[in-house]
Amino acid sequence: QEDIFKNVVSHAKEYGYIFPSSEIYDGLSAVYDYAQNGVELKKNIREYWWKSMVQMHENIVGIDASIFMHPTTWKASGHVDAFNDPLIDNKDSKKRYRADVLIEDYCEKLYQKAQKEIEKAKKRFGEAFDENQFVATNPRVVGYLTRKQEILERMARGLDNGDLADVKALIEELEIADPDTGSKNWTEVRQFNLMFGTKLGASADSAMDLYLRPETAQGIFVNFLNVQKTGRMKIPFGIAQTGKAFRNEIVARQFIFRMREFEQMEMQFFVKPGEEMKYYEYWKETRLKWHLSLGMGPENYRFHDHEKLAHYANAAADIEFNFPFGFKELEGIHSRTDFDLKAHEKFSGKKLQFFDNETNTSYVPYVVETSVGLDRMFLSVFSKSLVEETLEDGSTRTVLRLPSVLAPTKATILPLVKKDGLPELAQDIIEELKWDFNVAYDEKDAVGRRYRRADALGTPFCITVDHQSLEDKTVTIRHRDTMKQDRVAIADLRNIIENEVSM
Ligand code: ATP
Repeated sequence: QEDIFKNVVSHAKEYGYIFPSSEIYDGLSAVYDYAQNGVELKKNIREYWWKSMVQMHENIVGIDASIFMHPTTWKASGHVDAFNDPLIDNKDSKKRYRADVLIEDYCEKLYQKAQKEIEKAKKRFGEAFDENQFVATNPRVVGYLTRKQEILERMARGLDNGDLADVKALIEELEIADPDTGSKNWTEVRQFNLMFGTKLGASADSAMDLYLRPETAQGIFVNFLNVQKTGRMKIPFGIAQTGKAFRNEIVARQFIFRMREFEQMEMQFFVKPGEEMKYYEYWKETRLKWHLSLGMGPENYRFHDHEKLAHYANAAADIEFNFPFGFKELEGIHSRTDFDLKAHEKFSGKKLQFFDNETNTSYVPYVVETSVGLDRMFLSVFSKSLVEETLEDGSTRTVLRLPSVLAPTKATILPLVKKDGLPELAQDIIEELKWDFNVAYDEKDAVGRRYRRADALGTPFCITVDHQSLEDKTVTIRHRDTMKQDRVAIADLRNIIENEVSM
């Protein structure tokens, strides 16, 4: 698994997807730049999300709020007081960790042990295996899963009540070791606020302390009434937004999974109080379907219902993805109640209520939100798409099986040789296709090598122009995944590509 992850990181760099930030200065920890292909993949994921959320829902509209917000926003939202992570240091290694993540990783191992038992039993019993019954009755599986649950609940209690000594006690009882050095010599657990502060204004005395937003959601809450009134929106309705968020993460490893500057794609759905559970279930299901539509395999997704609820939520679940380092949160679906709007009413002194003209009453709506990290989406798709295949002749090829709709380049046009007018015809084809698709030109090296390069870049089609093309206006089109080649008319290329890559 570690090797797979290393491959992902090096492939992302080698093929122009992701570079470490300011690399000539040895980079900056947990900050990355999207390169020429990465920026396209990221844009396509964002568009795929936006289309399915905004364009496909009559009652969802988008906004683009600023990163800077009035500082009282973050008092009201609870971030100033409560947006903390529990951190712990190892006295020997001097390394810093998130106490909750150490405990969750321990629990994930219990979960994996239970999975192993289930897999073994599946093999033993074959057809007759009843997984649900086995999970409910097998003493080992029940033992592992109950233990996991107990630990997570105890941790949640400790964090909720501010009983950090008990969180430390838990780490000691479980004999959790520093993952890097094995040492079990821990400091106390303490809270650390994740917001980045900055200043607005030139002179020292008039400057105002600001924060870089740690989530995009608050930009939506403070605009709730503006959007509702000017858009004449009726409840239930949603506001969607994509944009950067910033968190001073304690442990920022695992490549673009946890960054200090990242992008979120969020949608806040405003509902009548009392109806939030219905919509919570609806959005859980709808969002999982959206992920599955990308074809990364249903076995790589699972729900995780929260034991520990954030200060604003009455129900919360994560959609977890099987990343190269195990199942981890990809998206959160939260029922946020009326916490945020009520808090902004209190701090601003302005009413943030929906007037229902059917019943002639006003109320503060409840909110169900879906929040997915764009960079984590990128990593999920990229890491699962990268495969090393052994072909029939025993040779291997590296192929990035990106969903065609997300691929940065849809087709590469290749002249078989660099003469006889083939490059010119290839350029003519590009001139025609470029209005609708990102296409590339490649004339360097033997055709086989050019095919491999396109495979590794994730380009779904290669279109080869040869001497016959000059006579009958046909070309060879090669499919990335099957490597199948067809002879088709140049005039049909647009439709063929369109069929495969449209949303
Ligand atoms: P985690 O538990 O992994 O720190 P979180 O529960 O704090 O995440 P949320 O506040 O629910 O995350 O944020 C919503 C989404 O934003 C997450 O599901 C994740 O995809 C993304 N996200 C959060 N923090 C980061 C980060 N540091 N880097 C990249 N993406 C992030």
